Parts: sequence; structure tokens; C-alpha cells
Amino acid sequence: MQIKNAHLALVEQQKTNEYDLLILGGGINGSMLYRVASDSSKKVILIEKKDFSSGTSQASGMMVWGGILYLKNLEFNLVRKFCKARDNLIKHSNGVYKRRFNYTFLKNGERSSLVMKIGLALYRLLGSFRRSATKSITNKQLPSEWDKSRFNGGLSYEEGFLKESDSQFTINLLHTKNTSGSKAHNYSVVQEIKWLDELKCFKVHFSDHQNQNHTIYVKTIVNACGVWAEGVNEKFGFKTKASHHFSKGVYLLLKNTDKQQDAFVVDMEKNGDTLCWVPWGETVMWGPTETSIGSVDELPVTQDDVEFLLGKLNSKLEHKISHQDIINVRTGIRPLVKFNGQEFKNSLELSRKAILESDPKLPWHTIFGGKISGGLEFSNKAYRSIFGKKPNQIQHNSTPAAPVTRDFFNGTALPDVAWTVKNTQVRCLEDYLRRRTNIAQWIPVGGLGFKNEYLPDLKKISELIHESSTDAKIDFERYIDLQKKERYKWEN
Ligand SMILES: Cc1cc2nc3c(=O)[nH]c(=O)nc-3n(C[C@H](O)[C@H](O)[C@H](O)COP(=O)(O)OP(=O)(O)OC[C@H]3O[C@@H](n4cnc5c(N)ncnc54)[C@H](O)[C@@H]3O)c2cc1C
Repeated sequence: MQIKNAHLALVEQQKTNEYDLLILGGGINGSMLYRVASDSSKKVILIEKKDFSSGTSQASGMMVWGGILYLKNLEFNLVRKFCKARDNLIKHSNGVYKRRFNYTFLKNGERSSLVMKIGLALYRLLGSFRRSATKSITNKQLPSEWDKSRFNGGLSYEEGFLKESDSQFTINLLHTKNTSGSKAHNYSVVQEIKWLDELKCFKVHFSDHQNQNHTIYVKTIVNACGVWAEGVNEKFGFKTKASHHFSKGVYLLLKNTDKQQDAFVVDMEKNGDTLCWVPWGETVMWGPTETSIGSVDELPVTQDDVEFLLGKLNSKLEHKISHQDIINVRTGIRPLVKFNGQEFKNSLELSRKAILESDPKLPWHTIFGGKISGGLEFSNKAYRSIFGKKPNQIQHNSTPAAPVTRDFFNGTALPDVAWTVKNTQVRCLEDYLRRRTNIAQWIPVGGLGFKNEYLPDLKKISELIHESSTDAKIDFERYIDLQKKERYKWEN
């Protein structure tokens, strides 16, 4: 009798706190799947250890591309799928726009213009001619700072690009109204996961951003923790055939002096790799590097990363630039899928596709790899594999727009601080400056300014975020200290 009552109490508790799906990790992969599943009437809970999009998904090149580079590895099917995914987003999402990229030819460069013309024609064919035709450009159309004597014009083609940022695109996927009762929590930690055979679900204990403990019951779990996925599997006792190879990428952010709109691709003169010069608001992103690393702890930008990028850029500029010209840096680790025993010389040989590996015994799935490009198609496929049916089409553009404030940074239009706190779970200065806006990337030293001129703005924003003045002061001081320390690591 006692056992029966205990079982009934468990069933009752389970009903109220029951979810169809728990997603661990709020990067692009977790957030996209959250959106697909909740728009298909599944009750989803997403738990993110830090802030949403604070992992690799805040450090990308923001291209929604058809994967032209993968033509080199003859991955035609992957390119065809990426092109379709890119064009769907350009058509349906107001977070993505079409943008011209210019592949430039270095004098004495590795690639001939004929090979590139054929490559771009094939690329357009694989994209079923949905993008406009390739055009030639002359040296006059290159950025004004570049040393034209090193170039021989280029070829211009069309790709997709994120309108605001990778973080804002990701966070917008989470903050729409849903009728399925789905919830996303940032700064929350899963402490324990246990499979209950009698109820055919997992019992999960987690603590939220206020350290409040919760118990939930979930039918299925997806580990979408990016480069941290293996660590999470290990913690909860799951083994997989796939794993991640870690590839660090760094960009320098420089001043966008001639307000260029187009992006430029430059040959690296080695391995057939390229670097990109991509105007982004007040800045130009120059990079990324591609360095294999052994652990996720090797993330911080080093002096070597900065010297490498500065060297490559200075060899193509008329007037050399130095560390003082760098506004900020951005860095992340690419989660690249590799299988047991797979041999490769260079991380560029690894495919950039995403896979879902499912545990043979329990409803536990892990996402390996993936990109922003193709992320929606991958989530649709993952949903089909998990729930055995097609998902509904997601509702694009349904995130409510934030009211605008012009109170800070010389009248820059920004989302209202109190609104972002209430509606997008901003918990500290960094959440607002780095991921709800681009201030921490577009204004020197993470938004402080080279002469600390924006300190009063940061102080006021911190006071708007926190209810207690003590918390506001602690957060403000911690943020400033962190920005200065991070810069010191690569500047000196
Ligand atoms: C330099 C660079 C340039 C790139 N450029 C492009 C590009 O132009 N276009 C493109 O499509 N892709 C690009 N990418 C790739 C793309 O950014 C990544 O593939 C993508 O962001 C990975 O997303 P994710 O959700 O898998 O991982 P993440 O964004 O890292 O998300 C994983 C999340 O899991 C959280 N987490 C970790 N542990 C736990 C835990 N125990 N519990 C809960 N949560 C946890 C983390 O905090 C993190 O937020 C680029 C990548 C880099 C590094």
C-alpha cells in the first residue's frame, strides 16, 4: 500500500513538472531546436549554464553561407543543403539579409581567376541559381586602406549574413511567446539526472539563477553543449562514438573607416585557406584564425593570435596598423565532429556538418558539430529523429521588438535596458553589452572606450539591471576589471 501511494504521489508530481524535452545548452543548436520543438507544441525546457549564446555562438563570422569552402573537399551534397538553408533564411527570416562577398586575387596568388570563376559558377548551380550572378570587381572597389599594387581585382558573389549579431539571432529564438508552456533558463545548473524505469522518464534536479532548486521530469534529453558536450556526457554517464575536435578562431575588430558595406575574402597564400574582411556596424572583423587546440580552456586570445592576424593584414595595407588600432577581439572554439579512429592532418579537412548521436538504451541524444548556416534544417531533422514525425514550420519573425533608448553612448539606438532585463533574462552588464547589443564589440575595451569615457554609461546601465545598489557596484567593478585584464593578455 505504502509503495502504491508513493508511486501515485510521484505520478502527480511528475505531471505538473513534466516536459517532453530538456535541452542542455543555449547556443544556436540548442535554441534552434527549442524553437522548432516548442512551435510543434512540445513542452520544452532549456537549461543554459551561463548566459544564452555565451559560448561559440557569440564568436562566429555571422555568415549564413552556402559553404563555398567545402567545394574544396568535394562535399557537393553538403554545399547544396547549406545553399538551400541559406536561401530559406534569406527569404523568411528578417534576422538574415543578402550581402555581397568579394573574393580578391592576390598578384602571384595560388588560385587562378578561371578556377575561381568555375568554382563560383558551380556554387551558384548547387544553389539552384537563387543568388544573383557573379560579377568581376576592379582594384578601385577594394577597401581604401588596402595596398592596390598587391591585388588583381576580384569576383563578387552573394551570401546571407546575420542582421544584428549571432547572439541576438540566437536569443531571439528563445524569447517568443509559446503556447506549449516551454521555458528557457540561463545561469542554471543541472545537478542530477536519473532515469526512472517505472515512469519511462528522467528525473532532473537543477538550480536556477537565484540558486532555487527544482525537480522536473523529462521524456527526452538533448545535450547541445557544443564544445562542452563530451564533458556533460561524461558527468551523466553517457558514451558516444563521435567526439569533438576543437578549433579556435579569433577575429580582430578594427575601425570601419570608409563605411564599406561589402565583405572581402583574401587568400592566405597557404593551404588554400582564406581570411575575411567583414564590415560589421562601426567595425570591420578581420579573421578568423583556425588553430587546433587540445582543450576548451585554451580559449583566451593570445599575443600570437593577434600578431598573426596583424601580420597578414599589414602585408596588404598601404599604412601599417598596430595594437592601438584594435578596438576589440572576438574568439570562440569550433565544435568539429570527428569519429573514433578518424585520421586528419589539418582541421580544415574536417566536415562542418552537424550530427545527432542517440544513446542505444535511453532517450539521451547529443549534438556534435553544426553551424548557424543549416541550423534550422538540422533541428528539423533532429526533431524528426527524436519524435518520429515532421515538425511544424517555425514562426519566423515572431520575437517582440524591444523599445529603443538613446540614453547611452552618445545617443546610440539600443534596446531599452529594463525591457531586456524583464524579457530576455539579462542578469549582468556583460549580458547586455556583449549579447543583447554589440556595444562590447563596437566600442573599445568592451564598451569602456580607450579613455574610459563611457564609464558613467556603464555605471548607469548596471544600476538599471540590478535592484540592489551593492549588486550594481559589484557587477560594474567586476566587468571593468575583466575587460582590462582580457585586453592586457594580448596587448602587452
Ligand atoms: C571563429 C568562428 C567563426 C565562425 N563563423 C561561422 C559563420 O560565419 N557561420 C556559421 O554558420 N558558423 C560559424 N561558426 C560556427 C558556429 O559559430 C558554431 O558551430 C556554433 O555557434 C555552435 O553552436 P552550439 O550551439 O553548438 O555551441 P555553443 O554556442 O557553444 O553553445 C553551447 C552552450 O552550452 C552551454 N553549456 C556548456 N556546458 C553546459 C552545461 N553543463 N549545462 C548547460 N549548458 C551548458 C554553454 O555555456 C554554451 O552556451 C564559426 C565559429 C567560430 C569559432
